[in-house]
Amino acid sequence: MGRPIQSKHSIRLSDCDTVMEHKTWMCLICGWIYDEAEGDPEHGIAPGTKWEDVPMNWTCPECAARKEDFEMVAI
Ligand SMILES: [Zn+2]
Repeated sequence: MGRPIQSKHSIRLSDCDTVMEHKTWMCLICGWIYDEAEGDPEHGIAPGTKWEDVPMNWTCPECAARKEDFEMVAI
């Protein structure tokens, strides 16, 4: 209530919301790249689908590896 607010780090969470960042994920088995911006339309994953929104039963188009076999990569 009457407590002074000491903010050492300013609030910038809302500033980051406008930045749409697409991540890429690589299959550790065959090296196939999943790009969130491109999705996997041939297998029902619309472009722009975030990795976390890709269904758990989705598998790598190349080698049928599961999501847990993918690792995020920075390009
Ligand atoms: Zn694969």
